[in-house]
Parts: sequence; structure tokens; C-alpha cells
Amino acid sequence: MKISELFSVAGYGVIVTGGASGLGLGYAEALAENGARVTILDVDGARVDAETKRLQAQGLALRGEVVDVRDHAAIERAFDAAVAAHGRLDVVFANAGIDSGPGFVGSWAGAQRPRNPEGALERYTDERWNRVIDINLNGIFATLRAGARLMRPQRSGRMIVTTSVAAYQCEPAIGAAYMSAKAGAAHLMRQVAHELAAYQITVNAIAPGFFATNIGGGHAKQPAVQEAMSKAIPMHRVGFADDIKGLALFLASPASAYVTGQQISIDGGWTLGVAD
Ligand code: NAD
Repeated sequence: MKISELFSVAGYGVIVTGGASGLGLGYAEALAENGARVTILDVDGARVDAETKRLQAQGLALRGEVVDVRDHAAIERAFDAAVAAHGRLDVVFANAGIDSGPGFVGSWAGAQRPRNPEGALERYTDERWNRVIDINLNGIFATLRAGARLMRPQRSGRMIVTTSVAAYQCEPAIGAAYMSAKAGAAHLMRQVAHELAAYQITVNAIAPGFFATNIGGGHAKQPAVQEAMSKAIPMHRVGFADDIKGLALFLASPASAYVTGQQISIDGGWTLGVAD
């Protein structure tokens, strides 16, 4: 293969869960702008509508469908519809996720990080725990399963899970369910990668650090939060959806054909240690 073709995804059929906002929208744009046909699946109908129209108006081959990843039968139907529309399935981004509410210390917005009683383990309700696990872990399982059903017979494909640096590093401002779901999703990714390797299907994870998206009500978009985080991150800035596009294209394209079962962090150096 010529070097110029290594990153070509032209004509690919792509599905992105949680694709109407933030990082998922970044994945969708990166692939569609490089000639792929992309389906975004998202629970937020208004955003699906708005982003689909916006990107179609730019001439991109993009379609959207309202799907809640907690509805596993709906995921299967949406995958079949995407294959019917695009004629093929090459890449799946298992990305949809939510925050888990407060952790046991306060947010990064403050100079001090006092204990937060609201986030204490004893106050953690079953409802809150189950909701996060249902979307951030069970939803990934159901998405990977739907991808495997279609990719295994064709003996090709790429699946990319959005985990988090929270998969391997504790963050006290974020609730325990989020840590657990992301660590579970990372190891699920490895197990599925192992199972599907013989079929030339690669399964990898992108582990973002701190990105300004709409998660948690857009907390990370607040200037005070970004200022505080920029002091803590060695590159002295937060991440934006555009920062994720190159890695997404690499993991979706022929360039990463021999990479599988890997979790790649993209965090401006946040997990390296204390910023200077
Ligand atoms: P976002 O809120 O901007 O986008 C998430 C999208 O997922 C939204 O469009 C939302 O409607 C959708 N979604 C939520 N629940 C869903 C459900 N049940 N079914 C279908 N769609 C659903 O947030 P984001 O930051 O882009 O998050 C994307 C992924 O990145 C998540 O898995 C998140 O945990 C992960 N992540 C984000 C950061 C960060 O700093 N922003 C860091 C690490 C990991």
C-alpha cells in the first residue's frame, strides 16, 4: 500500500454512538471529511437533527438516528439500517457516555479542593451507579457485540472505544461509577480485541484526558474550569474535539492495521505527573 493511502477511509461505512456532540462528533467529522459515509447514533434527538443537517449541508455523507445505547435491540436495528444505507460496515466508534455526578472532592474550578459530602460513597445511590454502568459499560458491550455480528463474517473491521484516563487513574472529583465503567470498558476492549484478532478485526481504545465538550452539562467549557485545568495539565491547555481527530483517523484507517487491544491516552500530558 502506498503511504498516501495509509490514512484513506474514503467509501468506508462508519457508525458513531454518541456522535451528535463532543468527541463523537469529532470522530464523525474526521471520518466524513475524509470521504467516509457516517451514521451517528445518539439519544439527543435535537442534536442529531441539527448536526446531521449542518454536516449534510457541507456535502458530507452523514445520516443520524435517535438511539439510546441502553436499548440493545435498538442498537442492533440501527446497525442493520446503517449497513443498508452505506452498503458496508468498516468502523464502529463505541463512544456514547455520561458523567457520573460529583466525586468525593470538589471540582477543578476551585483553588482548594475540599471534600464534597454529596460525592461520598455512602451517598452513592444504586440509581446513580446503575445509570452510569448501564450507559458507559453495558452500552459499550452492546455496541461492540453489534459490530462483531456484522464484522466477523466479513473478516475485517475496526472498533474504537472511548474510555478515559479514568480507566487507569483515579480522579477524586469524578464519581466512582465512572472510574469503574471506564476500567471495565478498557478491559472489555482487550478481551474483544483478543477474540476478534484472528478475523483481522482490530479493537482499540482512545483514553481522553480533559476535553471541553458538553459532558456534565458543559462543565469543562466554563472559563474558570479551563483556567484551573490548564494549570494542572503539563501542556497548559484543555483538549478540544479537533485534537482527537488525528488519532481517530489513525485507528480507523489502514495505518493501524497491526495495532489491536491498545488504549491510547490523549491528554496533553495530564497523566505524566504534576505540571510545571
Ligand atoms: P458529550 O456530552 O459532548 O457527548 C456525549 C454524547 O453521548 C452526547 O451527544 C449524548 O447525547 C450522547 N449520549 C449520552 N447518553 C447516551 C445514550 N444513553 N445513548 C446514546 N447516546 C448517548 O461528551 P463527550 O465528552 O464528547 O463524551 C464522549 C465520550 O468521551 C464519553 O464516553 C466520555 O465518557 C468520554 N470522555 C470524555 C472526556 C472529556 O473530558 N470530555 C474525557 C474522557 C472520556
